[in-house]
Amino acid sequence: MSRFLVSGKIALITGGNRGIGLGAAKALGESGAKVILVARDQGALEQSATGLCASGIDVNCAAFDLARTGEISTWYEECVCRHGRPEILVNAAGITRRGDAINLDLADWSETLAINATAVFELSRVFARSLIEAKARGKIVNIASLMTAAARRGTSAYAASKGALGQLTKALAIEWASHGIHVNAIAPGYIDTEMSKSLREDPEFDGWVKKRCPLGRWGSAEDIAWPIVFLASPASDFITGQVIYVDGGWLATF
Ligand code: NDP
Repeated sequence: MSRFLVSGKIALITGGNRGIGLGAAKALGESGAKVILVARDQGALEQSATGLCASGIDVNCAAFDLARTGEISTWYEECVCRHGRPEILVNAAGITRRGDAINLDLADWSETLAINATAVFELSRVFARSLIEAKARGKIVNIASLMTAAARRGTSAYAASKGALGQLTKALAIEWASHGIHVNAIAPGYIDTEMSKSLREDPEFDGWVKKRCPLGRWGSAEDIAWPIVFLASPASDFITGQVIYVDGGWLATF
């Protein structure tokens, strides 16, 4: 079982103050990693960190707005000085802006692409540069989506950003394989988090998800967390450039 552990590794988790990112932080912490939580909301970061700390997890917070893509490099260097060099990066921060393409505000398109794709690209590069300089190995786990493979009405910006993330996962994986830096993605189905709250509260949508999903339910952050640990651990050492759908069987049927 030791190959499924990440003992002593430092894991930087964006979106770590709630939802899928927080679930990943808990599971990685329970598997031996020191975790650094990244998000904008300092209060939520501290609250989540207190909860993890109470379960014996070594946790730090690094508040940052990933929309400030031009400042990611400087912020990351400061973060490394303060908390140590991460060898695991989980890119879980993400946003969605729903609306028919014909009327979608261009600012919503740009913001979605900035957080879900550009920030992932830039943070992954600074993470990889730091490891390559130190001749150290690492693992990147991106959080993609069902919309990496398919789309629904009203999701043009989100689907484009998650499609980009799927391809970015492959492109970075092949560039950095020789450095021992693995890049993979978990693509969740519909998961019970803040992001999906309005959808779950719509009885018609909620019913559709439960009927459409072969396993008959919404996923939980924990359902996504352990596959993330697998991709962050030595158990996945011959896996890179993959997008793994953790979707309750959603894409296996139509
Ligand atoms: P939540 O809305 O619960 O969490 C989103 C996280 O991203 C929060 O921690 C938020 O923190 C952080 N975040 C958002 N914007 C920024 C920013 N500008 N800078 C830094 N952090 C930011 O969503 P989920 O946990 O559901 O989503 C996590 C990932 O999973 C996302 O990439 C999402 O696209 C993906 N996903 C979710 C699915 C679902 O059904 N829930 C399905 C498929 C994929 P803060 O607001 O404090 O900055």
